[in-house]
Amino acid sequence: MPTQPLETLFRSEVLSMSAYHVADACNFIKLDAMENPYSWPEDIQARWLESLKTCPINRYPDPEAKTLAVALRRANSIPEQAALLLGNGSDEIIQILLMALSADAAVLAPEPGFVMYKQVAQSLGLRYRGVPLLADSFELDMPAMRAAIAESRPALIFIAYPNNPTGNLFDAAAIKEILSLAPGLVVVDEAYAPFADASFIGELEHYPNLLVMRTVSKLGLAGLRLGFLAGDSAIVEQLHKVRLPYNINCLTQITVGFALDHGEFLLEQTQTLRGERALVLQALEETPSVRAYPSAANFILFRTLNKAADDVFASLKSQGVLIKNLSPQGGLLHNCLRVTVGKPEENQAFLSALTVALK
Ligand code: PMP
Repeated sequence: MPTQPLETLFRSEVLSMSAYHVADACNFIKLDAMENPYSWPEDIQARWLESLKTCPINRYPDPEAKTLAVALRRANSIPEQAALLLGNGSDEIIQILLMALSADAAVLAPEPGFVMYKQVAQSLGLRYRGVPLLADSFELDMPAMRAAIAESRPALIFIAYPNNPTGNLFDAAAIKEILSLAPGLVVVDEAYAPFADASFIGELEHYPNLLVMRTVSKLGLAGLRLGFLAGDSAIVEQLHKVRLPYNINCLTQITVGFALDHGEFLLEQTQTLRGERALVLQALEETPSVRAYPSAANFILFRTLNKAADDVFASLKSQGVLIKNLSPQGGLLHNCLRVTVGKPEENQAFLSALTVALK
């Protein structure tokens, strides 16, 4: 241990935080983390392994990941004028964005939302403000958003579209109003874009303060850790100064490029998951003692009505099914659970276990 006490070595914000907890999923049907459950077809896997032979792992990777950036632009219809920043997952982009802000900056996000916005903002000592969504619809509470923007003058607003953990797409007109009102940057986080038919990428040319963030994680490449941010080049230029030079390793650069070039099978998997989402939602809607919320993502939020979510979660776990218990977060998420859409047999196993858990 150092001679100086930890209390004086670390920021008080860091000392009072808890680390982001990831449940041990060993031997469970894993429906907790919005992953694509499918692996790659064998012939594609063989070609991918062949392509990796060209990867110069003795060298540092291309710091700008130029080849990959071209493939990402094409696959995501990113306008030519927009600049691009790549991150080791979109988690890292959230960190880069917040590290670049002034020390006294305010950061605003609707809540419940993706927990990393608050976690990273607080760890950096920024002023974080969560604005509750409307209780019934999980829509943006626009009077509250307007007031919070006027009061806090946030340097950055995060809006997940679709939102995690609620799964809904906020009203696009409300987001556009926020873009017009915001004194600083607005990050529209489109992590779940492969499962939604809506995007703000087409709005980049209309709003200079808009940054659109995406990831390849939910498409089926979560293990590679690659996210990206598109927006105004003067803004993105500042962010590149904070980014570590070799943040995207060469195996990720080659593999994501390969996957995007052979991406038909990923799109087919996404389509299958969309179909399964409709089936799971319908089954949950037909379950009398839960309320399920419609989703434009690859997960579904539901609330237990007659039994504590903690108990339902524990029962599912004891039956070998791991989902996410959001109830400990409290507030609007009291008695809420989130299930990732998996393979048909996994979804069936979840629904059968849920019937037992609700008894
Ligand atoms: N944004 C949202 C809304 C998310 O739900 C997640 C992951 N759960 C991320 C960003 C981070 O994704 P990744 O770091 O895998 O790109």
